[in-house]
This record gives sequence, C-alpha cells and structure tokens, in this order.
Amino acid sequence: MKTRASRLAFGLTHIVLCSGALLLGHAGCNGSERQSTTSADVAAAAAAAEGNQSDQMPVTARPTAENPLNGERAFAYLSQLCKLGSRASGTRGMTRQRAMLVKFFEDRGAEVELQEFLIAHPLTGKRVRCANLIARWHPETTDRVLLCAHYDTRPLPDRDPNPRRRREGTFVGANDGASGVAALMEIANYLPDADLEVGVDMVLFDAEELVYFDGFRGERGEYFLGSIFFAEDYRDNPPPHQYRWGVLLDMVGDTDLELLQERYSMSWPDTRPLVLDIWRTAARLGVEEFVPRSKSGPVEGFIKDDHLPLRNIARIPSCDIIDAEYPDAPFGHPGSYWHTEKDIPANCSGDSLAKVGWVVLEWLKSLQPKQQ
Ligand SMILES: [Zn+2]
Repeated sequence: MKTRASRLAFGLTHIVLCSGALLLGHAGCNGSERQSTTSADVAAAAAAAEGNQSDQMPVTARPTAENPLNGERAFAYLSQLCKLGSRASGTRGMTRQRAMLVKFFEDRGAEVELQEFLIAHPLTGKRVRCANLIARWHPETTDRVLLCAHYDTRPLPDRDPNPRRRREGTFVGANDGASGVAALMEIANYLPDADLEVGVDMVLFDAEELVYFDGFRGERGEYFLGSIFFAEDYRDNPPPHQYRWGVLLDMVGDTDLELLQERYSMSWPDTRPLVLDIWRTAARLGVEEFVPRSKSGPVEGFIKDDHLPLRNIARIPSCDIIDAEYPDAPFGHPGSYWHTEKDIPANCSGDSLAKVGWVVLEWLKSLQPKQQ
C-alpha cells in the first residue's frame, strides 16, 4: 500500500528536539568561510596582475567567481552522518539520520514530507519500514527541479579485501551514501535566499541498496526501491507540479574528484542537454573536476543508479553526477574503496562537496522561466 505521511515529519521533529543528543550541529555556520582556489580565482588574479585594464575589459562573471559554499561545513555534515554508523534501510542509524535531516531541512525553510513504503528484507523476508525524505522550497511553484541522492548505506562492506570484514565489518558509506546528502545539505543553506525561477525539491531515497553480496550466492536484494516507489507514485498520482529536470548526486566526495559525463544521461535525447548545461556551468565557474567527456568503450561509463527509474518510469529527464572511480580504480577493481571499510570521511573532501554544490546551485540560478 502506498501512503503519503506528511504529518509524520512533524512528529519526528519533536522527538529530535526533545532528545537533544541527536541534533545535527551547524558546524562552521558562524566560522570563517573557507575559500577554495579555482581557476577562476587564478584568472581573476592574473587579470589584476596585468595592470589597470579592468575598466577597458568587458565585464564577465568569471573574475568575481568565488565559491560561496563552505567545504568545511559540508565535510562536517558528512562526518556527522558517518558517526551514526550504518544507515542501512530499517536500522537504528537510518532512523536517527532521518530525524536529524527532517529537522535540518525544516530549519532551512523547507516543507518536509516522509514518503513511507515497506519492503521485504532480502535475507529474512521480514518487513522493513522505509521512507524517502522530500524537502520542498517554494512548494506553490509548479515548475520544479528535483535534486536527489540516496541516504541509505549498503548493509555490509562486501567488497572489502578482508573476507571477514565483508561479513562482519561496518560500512559507513562516507562517499557512497553520505556525500550526496552532505552536498545537498550545504546547498540547502542557500535556498531560502536564492533568487530562482523554479521551485526545488530535494529527495533522499531510501533502499537504494539493501543488497547483500557474496562470492557464492551472488547478490540478494534489489536496488533503487526508494526511487522506483517515488517514480511510480509520481506517475500514478500526478501532483499539481511538474519536475522539469532531475539531478542525482552519488559518490561526489572523493578527494580526487573526477566527474565524467555518465553515459545513460548522455545517450538519451531528453537528458543530454541537461548534462551539457551542468558541465557548461562548471566550465564557466572554472570547476575542472567536471570533465566534459564520457568514458569510451562499449559498456564503460553506463551507470545504473536512481536516475534510471526517475527518467524511465516518471519521465523526469534526470542525470547522474557521479565519480565511479574511488579513488582512482573502477567499481570492484583492486584499490577501489567502493563498498569497503575504506569508504570513510578521511577519504573524502569537503572541497569536492562544495564544488559540486556550487555548480548545482549556479546551474539552478541559470534556469529561465519556462516558455508557455
Ligand atoms: Zn553502493
């Protein structure tokens, strides 16, 4: 049964407020703004060094481009999420995380809804209560953009090089789980005052990967259950609003960030313009971690992720911003931290989160009113 549970959000908020210990700190809110050096900064410095020609030069956005997002604060968000331990669907860590995030987004002016659904645990068959978290800014605006990430973590570090850790270890998913959430949290700080032509919904998907893997049985469990539920609900119960675009953030926290253009997003005619537009925004800002090319080869660079249900079921043109090489080896290859106990905050960077957040925020600001 599909339920909408918008009221539950308020109940949860009270639980969080009363418990106190669960409050997510506003680390860095009042601290000094960390400024990253971008090539735009370098260009601006070079232009200034060339002499007093600025009054003759055409005014462009670049010389003043400076990332307003706070990487230290974004990194603190990521660390705080990881301190909860596993946030696999149905766990205590997930429940605590959900309560923290409801309060976090409400404090930043969002209307928050929990979209609840039930799934069967892949090992025990028992019911697992799940909920996508939806945070809406300017909910009355019908022309909207969806920014999303998954907020559950894989139940076990089942690709860890140590066989025992694969069965008994703890997977905190700093990059694969917390990074997308932390980047969205940092963006949320700017949404109440942003002058946008669109409404923004952030959706955190549950049950992206309540999946178990071992060498004998292979994989048990299904991927993307939260985004499939969300997409089917949007298709079957059309809301008054429409999503113009969907942008998924996943694994965006790597210290050595390199964001190639994901190939499903590039191959579909309805989503390709979205990818090109976001990567153009990055180029304008001088954020070189957005690399304007895709992997080559027959299958490389096609990444199955939550953007597929959004695009294929809900018909929301959606792309995936993801660095599949963490730190520099593809999924499942030796040296990759993906689904291992090395996916920890120490292997992530607040600077990466701030850069991704900046590009997404500037891209949002660049959207023009829809032509009727
Ligand atoms: Zn994963």
